[in-house]
Amino acid sequence: MKVTNWGKYPVIDANFKSFTSIDELQSIVKNSDQLVARGLGRCYGDSALSQNIVSTLKYNRILAFDERTEQVTCESGVSLAEIIEAFVPRGWFLPVTPGTKFVTVGGAIASDVHGKNHHIEGSFSNHVTSIDILLSDGSIATCSKTNNSSLFWATCGGMGLTGIILQATFSLKRIESAYIKQKTIKVSNLDAVMEAFEASESYTYSVAWIDCLARGKSQGRSILTLGEHAILPDLKPGTPPLQLPKKLKLAVPLDFPSFALNSLSVKAFNFLYYHKAPDKSTESIIDYDAFFYPLDNIHHWNRIYGKRGFTQYQFVLPRESSKAGLKEILNRISRSGQGSFLAVLKLFGKQDNLISFPKEGYTLALDFAINNKVFPLLDELDKIVLEHGGRLYLTKDVRMNAETFRKSYGNSETFIQLKHQLDPTNKFHSLQSQRLQI
Ligand SMILES: Cc1cc2nc3c(=O)[nH]c(=O)nc-3n(C[C@H](O)[C@H](O)[C@H](O)COP(=O)(O)OP(=O)(O)OC[C@H]3O[C@@H](n4cnc5c(N)ncnc54)[C@H](O)[C@@H]3O)c2cc1C
Repeated sequence: MKVTNWGKYPVIDANFKSFTSIDELQSIVKNSDQLVARGLGRCYGDSALSQNIVSTLKYNRILAFDERTEQVTCESGVSLAEIIEAFVPRGWFLPVTPGTKFVTVGGAIASDVHGKNHHIEGSFSNHVTSIDILLSDGSIATCSKTNNSSLFWATCGGMGLTGIILQATFSLKRIESAYIKQKTIKVSNLDAVMEAFEASESYTYSVAWIDCLARGKSQGRSILTLGEHAILPDLKPGTPPLQLPKKLKLAVPLDFPSFALNSLSVKAFNFLYYHKAPDKSTESIIDYDAFFYPLDNIHHWNRIYGKRGFTQYQFVLPRESSKAGLKEILNRISRSGQGSFLAVLKLFGKQDNLISFPKEGYTLALDFAINNKVFPLLDELDKIVLEHGGRLYLTKDVRMNAETFRKSYGNSETFIQLKHQLDPTNKFHSLQSQRLQI
């Protein structure tokens, strides 16, 4: 069948299989030369694409929850949306969540996802206590930060290349309400938004939307959003504190024609978004869906990029070189006229796992429609990222070359060696692992 991920590029023909029991999965793994696991396909590029794809979506039971230790155990095909629905009404939330709740627990671990709280709470793997994984020889290994730790660290952020995550145990966090106390600040340029991030490091959640096409003194003008879980006294009297939000679901019915999205429409969108925000900082109480997942209510929003699809370019730069690197990258994008509707800036805290993406500094994510000019532009951006000591996020990537991967991920050789020890016949394989020569 035809399979693609969130960026709708590339689209490939693949054998698509699924399983409901370990026996079934063992037989699939035994009988396939090359395969990769797939959750909800929310990675943008080709990391969940291979000739044989094993969907985990039917392996999706929540197995246990221990209120005393705050630990939940579930199968890897459970989505973060399902965890939220089961646990928010009982007063628990995810420790770390990406900008969509439609990802599986297996996918969250394999990409070692981060949220708006990385500077305080780290990435998803920080909260994982144990993982069961099916290896290439059909055996099952349990690993954690203290037991079989090299398997654990190669699996968190390892993009499915060590084996198929079967189940995981991770911690939830206590909440008093399903609401977030949000503060929004409008800032006039990049220097100002970085100062504002640094002045707000005590906030649990922070994220900025950047107008990446603004030039000169306005370069990097942004809307910075800060948040904390609301506590009972923050809510209007009578508000049921732990009720799940009810949402009107919108959908993009068809792929947009490619002319709908051009540098003019992107510029106009960015201009309006920035100027719509009030000049003074504002505070409000909003539900967790509106705060964490504003795009999840528009089904198939990826269709606005048309049939050719799009790619998300997400990089991180070390804190000390972030300002210079971001300015150079924004200058280059602005000159190119290749815009991004969504340019999202976050501050990462300290972290240097084996192969996970985050490291201390600023990360910027930009969407680009696929067209003839985009890949040459991104090749130029890669050079700037490398010169400033940064790296690209594998779960968003669809075109980086092997050399850039090796140079930018300091532990890439150790990861590749471990992968070959664990999987000598290179059974766990994706289009991405082939391109990156892993
Ligand atoms: C709108 C949107 C917003 C996003 N925001 C963020 C964000 O803020 N922060 C962030 O970090 N990410 C973000 N992402 C990316 C997303 O969180 C990751 O790509 C995540 O891995 C997707 O999970 P999935 O279940 O869809 O996995 P898939 O896309 O299906 O797979 C992703 C990778 O995980 C592997 N994998 C999946 N399941 C297993 C398993 N059981 N065992 C072994 N390997 C497995 C696959 O082989 C593949 O390499 C966003 C994505 C979208 C579409």
